[in-house]
Amino acid sequence: MALCGNCGAAAPRVKTIFTKNGILLPIPKDECPVCAPQSFEPAPDPSTRKIWIGPEYMPSRYRKKTDHLGDYYEGTDELRADTEDAISRGATDETEKLERMKAQKRLNRRTAPLKSGSVEHFQAINRAREVAKNLEDTHKQYYDQMKEAEAEQARQFAHSRLPLVRVN
Ligand SMILES: [Zn+2]
Repeated sequence: MALCGNCGAAAPRVKTIFTKNGILLPIPKDECPVCAPQSFEPAPDPSTRKIWIGPEYMPSRYRKKTDHLGDYYEGTDELRADTEDAISRGATDETEKLERMKAQKRLNRRTAPLKSGSVEHFQAINRAREVAKNLEDTHKQYYDQMKEAEAEQARQFAHSRLPLVRVN
């Protein structure tokens, strides 16, 4: 901050004008964004032009340390705990969605046994079949991949055992 000699404001930028139309002024004149905003180009605050990370953003949550490579910043235990907590909590919208689904389930939860032959009974059976089929498919996929990997390994092994044949 500098003090403007014209208006006395403490401004981030002060211009001192020594000449007017090429002629030296008897007394240099100060201008600042407060008294002469028209003389200043809009300039974004430099601090808003980059992403502030880690110790710049939260200096109180880092400790400066030094090793043979130089200075570095290490997050405090408190910061680490908060970060882990935030990660394990998951995205807010996901958590909220899950909570809503749970609340819905609590409200609509079936409390009486399914009546045999009812629509709900068939729906439940179909749902169980679907789940079983998904499990089976996943298992089959995994099994096929494993078999393929084994076969590939065997091919490579056989190939590595081929005698070297020289043409001449
Ligand atoms: Zn001023």
